[in-house]
Amino acid sequence: MPLFEYRCQECGHVTEFLEKADATGKHQCEQCGSAKTDRILSAFAVREGGSSGSSGSSCPTGTCPLS
Ligand SMILES: [Zn+2]
Repeated sequence: MPLFEYRCQECGHVTEFLEKADATGKHQCEQCGSAKTDRILSAFAVREGGSSGSSGSSCPTGTCPLS
């Protein structure tokens, strides 16, 4: 099941959801509660503020859901 990221149109906060690729459920911003979110393909998304040098992480991209 792929990981998708939704960027809030109101505040810009990105919330991650694990769901089927054809899921059509609504997703609310976890920060402000707005339902106005745009889906991002996390595999191609650049995480803001992400660090590639974080120690103790086995995830090379920083987008692993279990990290
Ligand atoms: Zn928001």
